[in-house]
Amino acid sequence: KLQKIGIESLKQVTKRYARKQNRWVKNRFLNRPGPSVPPVYGLEVSDVSKWEESVLEPALEIVQSFIQGHKPVAAPVKMPCNEMENKRSYHMCDLCDRIIIGDREWAAHIKSKSHLHQLKKRRRLDSDAATAIENQSISPDCDKELKEKGSPEQNEKELKPSV
Ligand SMILES: [Zn+2]
Repeated sequence: KLQKIGIESLKQVTKRYARKQNRWVKNRFLNRPGPSVPPVYGLEVSDVSKWEESVLEPALEIVQSFIQGHKPVAAPVKMPCNEMENKRSYHMCDLCDRIIIGDREWAAHIKSKSHLHQLKKRRRLDSDAATAIENQSISPDCDKELKEKGSPEQNEKELKPSV
């Protein structure tokens, strides 16, 4: 009985792990295509009795042609939504002073650490500029007061010749 329970739970965690792996591959490779992402190949795995001809052999073929340096006969898997978005769209990031090609790359860029860092930096500069402007708007009044009263430096200069 214990063995049966063990087998069942092993099946369960294996299924869970496979789902997790599938999700990871989808997110990492298929949802974020780019030059650093390798092509992903799909294999028909639903029939276990045809494992050798429908999974093992095509997989070996793909690996073989990869090793030999030419493109496999099988076509890599593509996410269907990829064709909907504009891969060649042009985005200019003023903050980072960078040009980003592709909608997905752009979406990734504005969430990226380096961009957020630039954003933070810019916000700090903006608040500094705001306080600088505030100071400027106060300073003309100060100048007026100083002129009316005469600044201590001016008084000294005026006094010196007479001494
Ligand atoms: Zn940016």
